[in-house]
Amino acid sequence: MSGAVSQTMRLTILGSGTNVHPARAAAGYLVQTDHTLLLDFGPRTLMNLIKTGVDRHQVTHILFSHFHADHFSDFITFFFDALIYTKHEGGRRPDLTLIGPRGTTSLIESIMATFPSFSKPPFRVHIREVEGRSFRIGDTIVTPKPVVHVPDLNCVGYRLEYRKKTVVYSGDAQYCDNLVRMCREADVAVLDCSFPATKPGPVHMHAGDCGRVAREAGVGCLVLSHLYPVADREDVKAQAAEEYGGRIRKGTDLLAIQI
Ligand SMILES: [Zn+2]
Ligand SMILES: [Zn+2]
Repeated sequence: MSGAVSQTMRLTILGSGTNVHPARAAAGYLVQTDHTLLLDFGPRTLMNLIKTGVDRHQVTHILFSHFHADHFSDFITFFFDALIYTKHEGGRRPDLTLIGPRGTTSLIESIMATFPSFSKPPFRVHIREVEGRSFRIGDTIVTPKPVVHVPDLNCVGYRLEYRKKTVVYSGDAQYCDNLVRMCREADVAVLDCSFPATKPGPVHMHAGDCGRVAREAGVGCLVLSHLYPVADREDVKAQAAEEYGGRIRKGTDLLAIQI
């Protein structure tokens, strides 16, 4: 497989849960196009990336939705490992590009300056802050969009298009117009379903919200993810189905979806 250019887009859920969910890793997704991309990199997702068999040293781009630790913390371990691999094991890796909302540069630069041996990696690291403008990674068109999550925190979702197929990842989000716009007619939308509709909580969507977004945007398949333990105690699929008549899947770690 390694080195082959994929003609289709493949999404693998590395983490369908939250920070301390007992059975699910926190937020993280592998997207394979003509590049190997990650969307977020939360705790325990690095181990699931290794379980996929994909060479972690071939990851070229990491797209962060925001910097709550449940979306970020395995980056530290990943980067430390990349340094050992390239400095001490004779390994080579391609450039690494780190993408995220406003604030990404200062956060990454402070990590690079502070963590032991993180400065001067033997491979190039690029940092890119995004807001709403589309850009390309190889043949993949990436459109970031600001979403509403926590007040005063910059959060984006991502729409990825490759070979006429589209996947959208909400990041953490409340129901908002930008999210519906970003999901418009996507083949697959992976949405923040932290809560069941019967027990909604703050700053995240519940299953009914996810169904509403999927219906209003006309998506092909809704994937419920970022599940808190409380969401696992109810039938979130059925709750989303009350709003949306299309295909619904409940995310699980290592679930792979060919798009
Ligand atoms: Zn968050
Ligand atoms: Zn989160």
